Amino acid sequence: MCGIVGYVGPNSSVTVLLGGLSRLQYRGYDSAGIAVLGTDGVLETRKHAGKLQVLIDDVDALPLIDGQTGIGHTRWATHGGPTDANAHPHLGDDGKLALIHNGIIENFAPLKQELLDAGETFTSDTDSEVAAILVGRAFRESGDLTLAMRQVVARLEGAFTLLIVHQDRPGEVVGARRISPLVIGLGDGENFLGSDVAAFVEHTRRAVEIGDDQIVTIRPDSVEVTDFAGKAVETREYEIAWDASASEKGGWSSFMRKEISEEPDAVYNTLLGRVVDGAVAFPDLGGLTDEVLGSIDRIVIIACGTAAYAGMLGKYAIEAWARIPVEVTLSHEFRYSGPILNDRTLVISVSQSGETIDTLMAVKYAKVEGARGLSICNTQGSSIPRESDAVIYTHAGPEVAVASTKAFVAQITALYLFGLHLAAVRGSLSAAQLTRNVEELQAIPAKIAEVLVASEGIGQLAGWMADTRSVLFLGRHVGYPIALEGALKLKELAYIHAEGFAAGELKHGPIALIEPGQIVFVIVPSPRDPSSLHSKVVSNIQEIRARGARVIAIAEKGDAAVLPYADEVIPIPLAAPFFEPLLAVVPLHIFALELATAKGLDVDQPRNLAKSVTVE
Ligand code: GLU
Repeated sequence: MCGIVGYVGPNSSVTVLLGGLSRLQYRGYDSAGIAVLGTDGVLETRKHAGKLQVLIDDVDALPLIDGQTGIGHTRWATHGGPTDANAHPHLGDDGKLALIHNGIIENFAPLKQELLDAGETFTSDTDSEVAAILVGRAFRESGDLTLAMRQVVARLEGAFTLLIVHQDRPGEVVGARRISPLVIGLGDGENFLGSDVAAFVEHTRRAVEIGDDQIVTIRPDSVEVTDFAGKAVETREYEIAWDASASEKGGWSSFMRKEISEEPDAVYNTLLGRVVDGAVAFPDLGGLTDEVLGSIDRIVIIACGTAAYAGMLGKYAIEAWARIPVEVTLSHEFRYSGPILNDRTLVISVSQSGETIDTLMAVKYAKVEGARGLSICNTQGSSIPRESDAVIYTHAGPEVAVASTKAFVAQITALYLFGLHLAAVRGSLSAAQLTRNVEELQAIPAKIAEVLVASEGIGQLAGWMADTRSVLFLGRHVGYPIALEGALKLKELAYIHAEGFAAGELKHGPIALIEPGQIVFVIVPSPRDPSSLHSKVVSNIQEIRARGARVIAIAEKGDAAVLPYADEVIPIPLAAPFFEPLLAVVPLHIFALELATAKGLDVDQPRNLAKSVTVE
């Protein structure tokens, strides 16, 4: 799950690589390193445990050679602790070759033994160093870097992106990918490689996808892509939709704070162009024609973490609107449960990065089993859309903070749009019902903006709670995934024990956790909801209050029934039941951010995490 960048061209590779890594560090940040190659054939590497800044400070204090070819890496350790020695690049061919790796080489142990038996020595505990030494040995035989890469990838098992440079081949970077991500950036007299386009968007908006099991060789004026057998493959160029400034902090104290402030835009932009004359319009759903959608009899939504909570909301909405059974499965559990799939099953994957490996593997599995695939994704040119019959891009813009916020509301929006589209195709909602729901959705951006303003006091609330050890979250129906999301954010960012429960489940066990002073957030459904949900949740609040809980209610503005029982009320604007989650989640995002800030923690790069999970 690391970040990878490669460069060949006339400019200072140190500057390009460090700039690229600073945009990629959300992918992994326990160590960083670069290897730079000068035209005179000098290869220099520098690497350090710790955040990228440690490397930058070191390079500032003691500059590297000003080469024009290079590779850079931010690590998220899988094999061996985050130490200087385990940081990438790793060296082969007596220090003449440098290699960086994203992923896991699953058969590294026998390969390492083979190399030890052949007299090679290792300086790290990583799986990656095996690849460096193997490529170095292969290059020594042929003097051809691309061929050496091809020979070695044939021996590797697992998931990997590898980039290599060799001091005898200035002006050349060779990359290979199997499952882990890699994209090409096309410049003028210079070319780039990156785990995602953030690595080079500062320099070019032209990108090229690289498929699975492909090798790419970049030089300043050429890009060659072949498959692992050496056969040339056709590539597809696309234009990057956002510019470099979109992935910068722009004066905000953290990316997360900036991205929460962009939640209204994330919903707005995801709706943009997809509502025509009050109806949902998806002109390009690829293989998911109306006929195919009419034949679907079951939907499985696969996702992990926050995206899975968006998936749960998608389930409630799609079942209600399109009347098709929907289940939500964690991607990493999906394959192993032997799911029953056929061409009447639609598998919807939800992934911000489009590279989440658990989801990618699940999508590939579903494809082989004959299911239809729809990807909800925020990143153009990424792997999961490529493996799917159709994609609905969320237009949240680049999300850099590790904890997902604006991508979450955009994912819900995309799932709701699709649910309404499906309902229209299948005739399960009347034209008036469709229009009403579309209008509710269109009203959400302005309402989130209102919530942002009304949430300004949350910082103070969080400040009072900085010493809290445990927080619970309760919700029913569409409030339940929001309770889970509130708890996950608090765990991720503030390292506090937090749990979300379906409010009705409380008396089946978790109520035993309630003791005087226990903080409980409750997502309260609208009192206007025709079902009895509101009164049930108000009863749940009384049950926990009777046992001493301190209740913070997120409730519709003017909900007088909650006031007597809540210690604090965070008001949200009126919205129809399915749309309330898009509002109720915002104060919870802010609360987690503020509590982590009050504890002095890094909200953009929480410990042990990485944004894009690209190892299984
Ligand atoms: N498995 C490699 C390591 O532990 C690469 C991890 C990564 O993708 O950052 O160093």
